[in-house]
Amino acid sequence: MVTGVAARPGHLVAGIVASSGRCWLLTVPRRIRTLCGMSTSPQASDSGQDTTATDSAPSGKRVLLAKPRGYCAGVDRAVDTVERVLEKYGAPVYVRKEIVHNQHVVGNLRDRGVVFVEDTEEVPEGSLLVFSAHGVSPAVREAATRRNLRTIDATCPLVTKVHKEVNRFAREDYDILLIGHEGHEEVEGTSGEAPENVQLVDKPEDVDQVEVRDPSRVVWLSQTTLSVDETMERVNQLQDKYPEMQAPPSDDICYATSNRQVAVKAMAEECDLVLVVGSQNSSNSKRLVEVALHAGATDSHLIDYASDIDESWLEGVDTVGVTSGASVPDVLVFQVLDYLRERGWGEVEEVTTANEKVSFALPRELRKDLDENPNSPQSVR
Ligand code: SF4
Repeated sequence: MVTGVAARPGHLVAGIVASSGRCWLLTVPRRIRTLCGMSTSPQASDSGQDTTATDSAPSGKRVLLAKPRGYCAGVDRAVDTVERVLEKYGAPVYVRKEIVHNQHVVGNLRDRGVVFVEDTEEVPEGSLLVFSAHGVSPAVREAATRRNLRTIDATCPLVTKVHKEVNRFAREDYDILLIGHEGHEEVEGTSGEAPENVQLVDKPEDVDQVEVRDPSRVVWLSQTTLSVDETMERVNQLQDKYPEMQAPPSDDICYATSNRQVAVKAMAEECDLVLVVGSQNSSNSKRLVEVALHAGATDSHLIDYASDIDESWLEGVDTVGVTSGASVPDVLVFQVLDYLRERGWGEVEEVTTANEKVSFALPRELRKDLDENPNSPQSVR
């Protein structure tokens, strides 16, 4: 049974979503359709990103729900990998670092017998160890081999792509300027591929510290989960210093990160408050808060759960935007919608800027154990 309200005049029903025994009516204001280039057909545009609004905003309490949001293909694959390993081999299953950066996902897996470790040294010799979606350096792989660990690599293929770029440019003896956040696991893994060639550029002031051997052999690469706009600011700074600097062969910021930022930008200006569901250690989720504020949202907060919402954030608020980071299951988003509905924000309007069709096959070494074809294609787009 649909418990949401009927679509308002000027709105179109975009879909019905079921969660926790309740159905939500998703409606699309015509204005948002124009804003996002969204089609009403199920085969909506993959990349409509026209940002010109045409009509005036409706008033009253409402929720704008970003799409795409939540799980990306890399996270889906990583979580599926651990679940399949649990089923196949039973607990305990060792995972180096958090498999993905989400408290809820990690807590659930821990309850089912997954042991998250910081270091390979914590894993009993000869055990099975899963590498997380964020990737590892060759030094970590070597340490695992020394302990005779059997490993399954759940590194996202789009992170692996950046590792390969580092190796390629290092082989050609380039200085590699890696734009990313100091201390992030992905950056540690990526720069660990060629530490003597890679320099990390995080803050604007880092650019002054960069020194290269030959300004004609410099390339910039980046972490996959950065703010697109902030990265371009850093690239422009570096380009001013090294005009011959090369760009990555293809975008390093992944499709999921940029799609979620485009969706939040499309709705932010209309939002008094944007709630981003995601954990504090999730880079792409934190970026969504920053992007929402830059794009015109009056206020924005990162929350793990609906229970993290501070009632005072809702004072004087008409339009609440809701989105989630790439490691967040949609059930957490629907708990936020439940929370808002109970307080008068009952109508949910979905703002669609892209329809994602990316998926990745399970790691080859696991497919072999599961008697699946280890040579099946890595990704479907
Ligand atoms: S955010 Fe991007 S790079 Fe990270 S796991 Fe998801 S698809 Fe892969």
